[in-house]
Amino acid sequence: MTNATPESTKAKQFPPGMILGPDGKPCKICTAFRNWKPDTAAKNSESSNKPSSFTATAGVMSELAGFTKASSRPDTPPEGCPPDVEQLGRATWTFLHTTAAYYPDRPTPRQKANMYSLLSSLPILYPCTHCAADLGENVKSHPPDVSGRVGLSRWLCERHNEVNEKLGKPIFDCSIKKTDERWKDGPSD
Ligand code: FAD
Repeated sequence: MTNATPESTKAKQFPPGMILGPDGKPCKICTAFRNWKPDTAAKNSESSNKPSSFTATAGVMSELAGFTKASSRPDTPPEGCPPDVEQLGRATWTFLHTTAAYYPDRPTPRQKANMYSLLSSLPILYPCTHCAADLGENVKSHPPDVSGRVGLSRWLCERHNEVNEKLGKPIFDCSIKKTDERWKDGPSD
């Protein structure tokens, strides 16, 4: 006798929005914290007439994932908890855009090589696997522009916009005026 659950049954047990990793298990760093919340799972369960075991399963998985039992959870992980896909994303974009904003206008060959290496490593090392895979495709068709600060800031802004578009977020104006205002100088008034 085996404990294996058929793939089709397994898929039905996951709350909408929960992302599975390459191993087929819930991927904590690929999923927004709100989608791990039992409260959300309960709501989703009610609205889609899922069986009652669905709510329990979501709650158990949330606990298994290491999140606390608090009945009213915030939308972002509490301080001291591991990041979710959104916190990791915001922190990564902050690092990348700020680094681009302070990148030299005329980088040395070594600086260019280091920047190229940093950016081409992301699709391999970024822990959110589906984010990394999409970024890899994106970078393949748009190789990093490491020629100088202006080119790099625009390149990065455009890559970020591709993710924004995928997620239905607003598209950012990629002119150097706007990227500098956001990541280096602040608003002029
Ligand atoms: P963020 O998108 O994190 O942006 C932070 C701030 O940057 C914004 O407040 C804005 O002021 C500024 N900004 C926005 N757009 C631009 C731009 N184009 N140029 C310059 N500045 C800008 N999440 C998923 O759910 N699925 C994914 O596949 C996914 N892929 C990702 C891939 C990468 C490489 C990274 C770094 C993150 C990815 N994320 C993904 C996370 C996602 O992009 C967001 O970071 C997350 O949803 C939080 O969004 P946010 O609204 O707080 O703002």
